[in-house]
Amino acid sequence: MKGLVTKSTGSWYEVLADDGNSYKSRIKGKFRTKDIKTTNPIAVGDWVDIILETEAAGNTAIIVHLHERKNYIIRKSVNLSKQAQIIAANLDQAFLVVTLASPFTSLGFIDRFLVTAEAYDIPAGLIFNKLDLFSEEGLAILRDYEAIYKAIGYPCHEVSALQGTNIEVFKDLLRDRTTLISGHSGVGKSTLINAIHPRADLRTAAVSEWSDKGKHTTTFAEMIMLPFGGKLIDTPGIRELGIIDIEQQELSHFFPEMRVLMNDCRFNNCRHINEPGCAVLNALYEGQIAPSRYESYLSIYHGNDTRM
Ligand code: GDP
Ligand code: ZN
Repeated sequence: MKGLVTKSTGSWYEVLADDGNSYKSRIKGKFRTKDIKTTNPIAVGDWVDIILETEAAGNTAIIVHLHERKNYIIRKSVNLSKQAQIIAANLDQAFLVVTLASPFTSLGFIDRFLVTAEAYDIPAGLIFNKLDLFSEEGLAILRDYEAIYKAIGYPCHEVSALQGTNIEVFKDLLRDRTTLISGHSGVGKSTLINAIHPRADLRTAAVSEWSDKGKHTTTFAEMIMLPFGGKLIDTPGIRELGIIDIEQQELSHFFPEMRVLMNDCRFNNCRHINEPGCAVLNALYEGQIAPSRYESYLSIYHGNDTRM
């Protein structure tokens, strides 16, 4: 029977099967992800085949097959440098929830999120939350931020999860799609999810039941079925997504404003750092590329991971 992985603890998976039931499932056999070493073979959003365990008490099953993924997103494993944890698979889009105060989300952090989404070919956008907290001055800064990202094709939306401002717009963005949301702790992800789907409250209780050998469930993603259609993948406790082994030569492909200029550089192996006849540097000097975006390019290029 086919099913969708809606929750994972690393050793147990919750699978919503075609018969409408959820089965607590475990893996039998080896599942490998092409090209990368992963700490977890299966992730939230994966489609799998399961076999029910008839003699066991309760709804349990064994995962016997992993269907091919449309895409997936990973984070670097904290302990094992060359290993990656798959956060979620088969995404239609990813949103970063951003606040400019309490907590502050830096432009560098936003850019690393967007580069990650580009690298995995996942359409991305920004949700600016806590609109109710902005002063006149704060709003001006917010609009400057938005201008940077809208100009290069990333949708930006302003909401107040607390006051319900633009929540209908947010719902429309999610409807009938599989969406991953991410963001610093405290930006209001839980509040936002509660605003669109109050029953999501209940998951707090479910989480503790799912704790596995002291390994905390909340570092794994979890899928929430939206009553108006669509699936939302929350990433509690996941500080930052990431790309492993990104080639320096490839990096500018993941900056849309640089990607379009690449054929205009004098040298076809241009790094866009100090080469003569560099179309990216020219665009930067002419004010067509935001300095903050170029700084992020350099920072990622040189492997400076400030993790703000
Ligand atoms: P999470 O860590 O991203 O899940 O953030 P929470 O949803 O737990 O929110 C963190 C804090 O920000 C809580 O005190 C919320 O009440 C508050 N918060 C969330 N959204 C808003 C908002 O739109 N406006 C204001 N003023 N506070 C908010
Ligand atoms: Zn160049």
